[in-house]
Amino acid sequence: MALDDSYDLSNLKNHTEELVFRIMEEELNRISDEDVCKCHDCVLDMVCISLNNLEPRYRVSLMGSIYSSAQDGSLEDNVRTVVRNSIQKISLNRAHD
Ligand SMILES: [Zn+2]
Repeated sequence: MALDDSYDLSNLKNHTEELVFRIMEEELNRISDEDVCKCHDCVLDMVCISLNNLEPRYRVSLMGSIYSSAQDGSLEDNVRTVVRNSIQKISLNRAHD
């Protein structure tokens, strides 16, 4: 039995991933294109490094977002710090010329 044949696994949402996508967008929008390469490869590398440095927070979401925002403040600060570090790391060591 394949799990994804019997269960709708798309209802599993990683809250950390959603935060990283949103905060990465905010942070990249604050930086000029001349200061950081925003090509597909570099941005995916930045997202990858960020996600690998944060704990995943999965939840089951059957009806949109029902996540409690009580602990979001400090989590968001932490994600922002990790995202900024990832942007800096990749811009100093990008995988292409
Ligand atoms: Zn690039």
